[in-house]
Amino acid sequence: MPELTAIRHHLHQHPELGLSELKTSDFVAEKLEAMGYDVTRGLGKTGLVATLRNGTGERSIGIRADMDALPIQEESGAAYASQTPGLMHACGHDGHTTMLLGAAKLLAERRNFDGTIHLIFQPAEENFGGARLMIEDGLFERFPCDAVFALHNDPGLPFGEIYVREGPVMAAVDECRITVNGRGGHGAEPQETADPVVAGASIIMALQTVVSRNLHPVDSAVVTVGAFHAGQASNVIPERAEMLLTIRSFDPDVRDLLEKRLRALVEGQAASYGMSVTIDYERGYEPTVNHGAETDFVREVAARIVGEDKVRDLPRPMMGSEDFAYMLAERPGSYFYLGTRKSDRDPPLHHPRFDFNDDALPIGVSLWVELAEAWLPQ
Ligand SMILES: [Zn+2]
Ligand SMILES: [Zn+2]
Repeated sequence: MPELTAIRHHLHQHPELGLSELKTSDFVAEKLEAMGYDVTRGLGKTGLVATLRNGTGERSIGIRADMDALPIQEESGAAYASQTPGLMHACGHDGHTTMLLGAAKLLAERRNFDGTIHLIFQPAEENFGGARLMIEDGLFERFPCDAVFALHNDPGLPFGEIYVREGPVMAAVDECRITVNGRGGHGAEPQETADPVVAGASIIMALQTVVSRNLHPVDSAVVTVGAFHAGQASNVIPERAEMLLTIRSFDPDVRDLLEKRLRALVEGQAASYGMSVTIDYERGYEPTVNHGAETDFVREVAARIVGEDKVRDLPRPMMGSEDFAYMLAERPGSYFYLGTRKSDRDPPLHHPRFDFNDDALPIGVSLWVELAEAWLPQ
């Protein structure tokens, strides 16, 4: 425990953004090499794979941890708070990396498995899709894995409980930037202008009908306008208005429908005000879909670690997103949650006061050790 905590606090003090995890990957690689792993660097730029073989078995397993931090100014007040202004581990990836390092050590000491273990330390989960970049660099050709597994801490779930789910578990995410091109002028002479604020407000209201009036009521999706920027003064009609949206879905047909209806509505609304509009629509991460047999396997193994009563089925998928989706599209596997709640007032993930719950470290370590050894029985 003291060793795990020291590692976690070190990582927490030195956060790095996606694809810039230089010191982090050096630190991780050094530890793994000292434990006797074969470490391959430079997959997905700053990602790495640590390989350990035992016995003659043909079976293999991949376990993934993410290493990147977020562009948030830390306000946790922890003694080991981020030493880099404007950057912090606000999603607990420092905890994920620490748990996999802890498991790496025990697996190497115990040698209680027959086959090959690939520990995948990936960059850029939060932004650039580090998982996809590692796959493009030949992750699964160079390091064949029969199955892949990953977990995420969740301060909203009861401490020590494991939540699993077969099928879709995280949503696909798309981003959209809408620019309404008006004609600015004096706030007292609207008749001489084309007011993009009014058109923008109308567009935002119209967008609320994409999900409510176009989707099958049983399908799920989210269209959120997270930013609306226009103008600076009360007596000036600005030249343009800009909106930033996040769009979440699970089903590919629903995803296509959302984009089609969004474009039609936004263009129609703008045209009705005599304005043009620019729509930059970008597809992001795919939905994360768990495989049945591997999810059952996690359920079984987790019950041995935390007890059957603390392994639960997630009642519905989460609308967040996760680039482990790309690994699950290539290999069977499962992504699950570890509850890390301390109190009712825990800050959520991505909050400036978030801090990974160290008490959960041994649970994650035990879970990975048990999972790998059970996947590769002697
Ligand atoms: Zn995150
Ligand atoms: Zn995360």
